[in-house]
Amino acid sequence: MDYDFDLFVIGGGSGGVRAGRVAAMGGAKVALAEEYRMGGTCVIRGCVPKKLMVYASGYSEAMNDAEGFGWSIGERSFDWSKLMAKQDAELDRLEGLYRKGLSGNDVTIYDARAVLKDGHTVELSTGETFTAKWILVATGGQPFVPNVKGAEHVMTSNDVFHLKDLPKRIMIVGGGYIACEFAGIFNGLGAEVTQFYRGAQILRGFDGEVRGHVADEMIRKGIDLHLGTDVMEIKKQDDGLLVKCTNGSETVVDAVMYATGRVPNTEGMGLEEAGVKLGRRGEIMVDRYSATSCDSVYSVGDVTDRVQLTPVAIREGMAFVETVFNDNPTAMDHEMIATAVFTQPEIGTVGYTEEDARDDFDIEVYRAAFRPMANILAGRDERMLMKLIVEKSTRKVLGCHIVGPAAGEMIQLAGVAVKMGATKEDFDRTVAVHPTAAEELVTMKEPVR
Ligand code: FAD
Ligand code: NDP
Repeated sequence: MDYDFDLFVIGGGSGGVRAGRVAAMGGAKVALAEEYRMGGTCVIRGCVPKKLMVYASGYSEAMNDAEGFGWSIGERSFDWSKLMAKQDAELDRLEGLYRKGLSGNDVTIYDARAVLKDGHTVELSTGETFTAKWILVATGGQPFVPNVKGAEHVMTSNDVFHLKDLPKRIMIVGGGYIACEFAGIFNGLGAEVTQFYRGAQILRGFDGEVRGHVADEMIRKGIDLHLGTDVMEIKKQDDGLLVKCTNGSETVVDAVMYATGRVPNTEGMGLEEAGVKLGRRGEIMVDRYSATSCDSVYSVGDVTDRVQLTPVAIREGMAFVETVFNDNPTAMDHEMIATAVFTQPEIGTVGYTEEDARDDFDIEVYRAAFRPMANILAGRDERMLMKLIVEKSTRKVLGCHIVGPAAGEMIQLAGVAVKMGATKEDFDRTVAVHPTAAEELVTMKEPVR
């Protein structure tokens, strides 16, 4: 049978754009539909604008530190609208590059919503239908807000990049990546930040000591963090939003941001009707090769709810192209993925947490907690934390956890060593780079536990 396209990609985010572009570069006839803006969550309302805001928010502390090094810094002020205008221009530029990357490789772009009519047919919101030999669903996810009374007054990470002004007082609900990153951003930009998290400690799933260290530093920097606390009701009143919480307290703020996880974009897409099985949370069920239960439909990225990270969506997209178009079945390797959380202080982590490693292995823990050199003249007490989790019998480094400046940059490189199966002795015979903070990674002598 003749199809209109070899591949129809639904979703112009990290996974979809990469897969579409690489398939087209290999000679496939490709179309891609995006219903909002090209680039998807990462470029338009995720990693990129978030990181720009992290940079912006870091200057308040940097200016304090500068005084410790002899600088005199005069009157300071921050202009939210100036940052937003510059940020918007940068996002426009990046969106343009994504479009060019596709159209320059002869991918046909449809600025429309797409749904499945069957395993080989896509229907666009324009009314057009197209057939394709293969369909790739890469529709990502969207913020989830629990059914709390007054939920209509809250915003999510989707709204935060469109705020007209910096809220003076903001409440952030959640204790995951997004909640903790934005608590730091708003705090650094000068807002009064209250954060409510329902559990006993923020950043569930990360190393216990890392979680405690980051929470302590966030509090020290001025975030009013409440653990074991949730919202009961949000009411709009003249002086702002009144938040009633489970411990009986009431707080008035200018904005409430929910960062309580994300749900896959699969609703109303005709997936189940086309034979694509969904999981309990609405995620597309896939095998190691990102194949769905419908032979002609594959799916990558957040919509499959495996690991919600941009580089993972990209790798899954490329593995899909290898498997389907290059006759080279390639499964994405989800083991030992290094990741950074752009909290302030920042986290870089790869591999097992101490807690998980202890369940499965006989381990030694090497740990360094110190005040980085830059903080001494700056007069800042903030400490850095580094941990290596080592399996006793094989000496393999099972996990590496870093908290402090540039932790994200460091973990990318430490991640190579850990992924290669480096031992503690491999770390130790690597000569230190001096004077850096990273040198502590190769100079930890005795295990602490
Ligand atoms: P997306 O990038 O979400 O793309 C899906 C696209 O599909 C969207 O553009 C959507 O509009 C479109 N779409 C949906 N349905 C349809 C339809 N029916 N028809 C047409 N188009 C449709 N990850 C990191 O690695 N590092 C970070 O620092 C980081 N920071 C983040 C910060 C925030 C605030 C958020 C929300 C996420 C962050 N992430 C980060 C996660 C990262 O953004 C995602 O993992 C990544 O974007 C997933 O890519 P994707 O291709 O699966 O989906
Ligand atoms: P996370 O899953 O990281 O965190 C969700 C938070 O919301 C958790 O603290 C969770 O609590 C809490 N929560 C969930 N449901 C409720 C509820 N009903 N009431 C109250 N609290 C609730 O999701 P995020 O939204 O922060 O981020 C989504 C994903 O995006 C991340 O998992 C990550 O993969 C990716 N991301 C990556 C970034 C990076 O690489 N730097 C940055 C931002 C996002 P509990 O722990 O108790 O379940």
